Amino acid sequence: MQFIVRGVSEGRQNAGETGHWRAIVRQCDVIPSVARDRFPYHRRSIMSLKPTRQAQPTKDLSLEQGVRWIEGEPYYLPSGNEVAVFTKCHERGLPVMLKGPTGCGKTRFIEHMAAKLKRPLITIACHDDLSASDLTGRYLIRGEETVWVDGPLTTAARHGAICYLDEVVEARQDTIVVIHPLTDDRHILPIEKTGELVEAAPGFQLVISYNPGYQHAVKDLKPSTRQRFVTIDFDFPPASSEAEIVAHESGVKKQTAQALVELARRVRRLKEQGLSEGPGTRLLIAAGRLIADGIPPVQACQAALIGPLTDDPDLLSAIADLVAATL
Ligand code: ADP
Repeated sequence: MQFIVRGVSEGRQNAGETGHWRAIVRQCDVIPSVARDRFPYHRRSIMSLKPTRQAQPTKDLSLEQGVRWIEGEPYYLPSGNEVAVFTKCHERGLPVMLKGPTGCGKTRFIEHMAAKLKRPLITIACHDDLSASDLTGRYLIRGEETVWVDGPLTTAARHGAICYLDEVVEARQDTIVVIHPLTDDRHILPIEKTGELVEAAPGFQLVISYNPGYQHAVKDLKPSTRQRFVTIDFDFPPASSEAEIVAHESGVKKQTAQALVELARRVRRLKEQGLSEGPGTRLLIAAGRLIADGIPPVQACQAALIGPLTDDPDLLSAIADLVAATL
């Protein structure tokens, strides 16, 4: 370790390629945490890193797969100071964790913020099979050539996009550690396969969503990951706000939206009787849309609200009773 740092500073004086050597010194700093996280990096590859590429102009981004420039500002009704907190985090490049149950507005919030902050958004749906290469990139054969193709995380870092890892807990731990070097002040992404060290362009921000309701022993975020993020807590909005959202998004009258929200509140209480997760605002909107399109309310709730929640016959009949009593 000592040798590498001394060697680098000597090299820096001789070569005068400040950016190149600064990047390597930074990488040397990162070794201990990398080793701790069992990141697949070793001294030899560090010594052969190429200079960091310059961030490319963001207009090229529209050509990249999976990148979205969100038009206008998607409707988002705040519940607290989440917009102000997120804006400050973005200004400082702090990574953010959006924590809350499914269907409570996390994705809508990030879309709203990306549009408001005028940054492109790259969303990655995390799953068991997601590999580090799916995030950083891989060599592909194109005709007679082998070319390097950036993954979505690298694209976001290079272009200063907001990178949203949805349901991050679904990804394996050895995949999640790839994001670690992007979460501290250095904002770097080492790519072992190309020997490149990408410095995140201004505007880059890492955002993850996490639903604590899903956690179980084998699938939970490790403290070494979660303590890197500023947390914004989400929950279902107060009843009047939720009714406003349901009316806005589905097109039903305010009164119907209020009845759907009242129903949801009652059903959410069934968690104590074994319902794994209560209905999110998304389900209420789906039921509302069917009602707005002329389906009778009880049938609409049966299809869009009750069916997706459970297969348990006792819970199904308890929810059906609540529907009959509320609508
Ligand atoms: P999550 O990402 O938390 O699973 P979503 O953001 O997809 O949930 O929310 C589901 C839907 O609920 C959204 O598409 C949007 O229509 C609506 N929604 C939820 N919360 C809000 C909110 N605060 N403002 C506006 N729409 C909301």
